[in-house]
Amino acid sequence: MVHVVRTLPKKHKLFILCFAIFLIGLMFLPSEKATASKDNSADALEIGKRYELQVKVEDNEKLTELNALPAEPVTSTPEYNFIDHKVKNGDNLAIIFQRAGFSAKTLYNLINTNAETRKLKKIHPGETLSFATAQDGSLAQLKYVISKTDTLFVTLNDEGKYDTKIESKEIETLTKTAVGEIANSFWTSAISAGLSERQIMNFADIFGWDVDFANDIRKGDSFGLIYESHYVDGEFIGTGKIIAAEFINQGQRYAAIRHTDGNFYTPEGRSMKKAFLRAPVNFKYISSSFNPRRLHPVTGKIKAHRGIDYAARTGTPVVAAGNGKVIKSGYSKYNGNYVFISHGTQYVTKYLHLNKRLVKTGQKVKQGKKIGTVGSTGRVTGAHLHYEFLVNGVHRNPKTVKLPKSEPLPRAELAKFKPIADNFVAQLEHSRKLQLALN
Ligand SMILES: [Zn+2]
Repeated sequence: MVHVVRTLPKKHKLFILCFAIFLIGLMFLPSEKATASKDNSADALEIGKRYELQVKVEDNEKLTELNALPAEPVTSTPEYNFIDHKVKNGDNLAIIFQRAGFSAKTLYNLINTNAETRKLKKIHPGETLSFATAQDGSLAQLKYVISKTDTLFVTLNDEGKYDTKIESKEIETLTKTAVGEIANSFWTSAISAGLSERQIMNFADIFGWDVDFANDIRKGDSFGLIYESHYVDGEFIGTGKIIAAEFINQGQRYAAIRHTDGNFYTPEGRSMKKAFLRAPVNFKYISSSFNPRRLHPVTGKIKAHRGIDYAARTGTPVVAAGNGKVIKSGYSKYNGNYVFISHGTQYVTKYLHLNKRLVKTGQKVKQGKKIGTVGSTGRVTGAHLHYEFLVNGVHRNPKTVKLPKSEPLPRAELAKFKPIADNFVAQLEHSRKLQLALN
């Protein structure tokens, strides 16, 4: 939490400070409820009793899915004593209902109430079903915690039928910052910076047009990101979207900020999406540790040839680096299974030694489309993708070659985007410097 506060903008810090002072102030105020409960036990909270909490139903769709509640809401009958039954391995609803002392008919009636109750069929081991019994022995209410935010209540009404209601707790979203420097691999450094696997993938995707995470990563490269973090009742429940990200790769700084359209743009407002992906193999499939003196899998020499090699397991997906047309999908003794794609009049990309080819000559492909899988066909000793990038028929390094600039945001959008972007970029820079100072 301290870290979160530290990385929040000044305005927020001030707010938190004021709020803290307010809370401390509250502590010194006499509490009416607390004193009243001393002499009147009826007002005191009882353990095991269910009390209605103020909850916000997030969207109207959720409401319409449910049966409309009758005039008498659940709130007026909080007198349930629940008995919890934990779902064990091999359990099903029939077993659990029997264990709880309710008939198959009760289960049948309850489960067939509506779509919400039918979801009870998908209970998992470790989850809990809570049963409240009415005085006549019937099932008065069933409580099922669906997720950290949602709880389903199935309540017996006066007509002997069941009503359903989902209570949704409000999710509080804070922004957090993570920064790190790469020691051995981006993956391990990102994990030690506290990022989840999903966040690492998303981060690599954001910079997928600029950085080849398989071959370009070096010791000392650094990364930073600002992301959403979700809480319910003060408890962390998971991370959300990345808001801004920075990657310093071999001294070159890349920054990306999420716009309201959901896409990422440079601080200048140019789309992160470009004509060519830097690597035709997703980073997640590539052996994570970098080796600046990686030997060529065929010749055993360092950097001996005109392409870029991606060592990956046979069957790893290979994607088109950019939109284009397959000019050749074939087989030869040296190339093995290969695919050549032309992108406009100037650019051609080549993919060699494929295990499988998934496109035909003449076929149009979009950037990111799976065109084949990594293999070891042709003159090779081990499975890898040999990738070539040609400009006007000449082999070029896609990292250094000048490529068409990406689309900028329209002027009106840019005016909205720029101040927000500048703020995030400054935050990232600040966090990076702070990290450096701590190291
Ligand atoms: Zn090669």
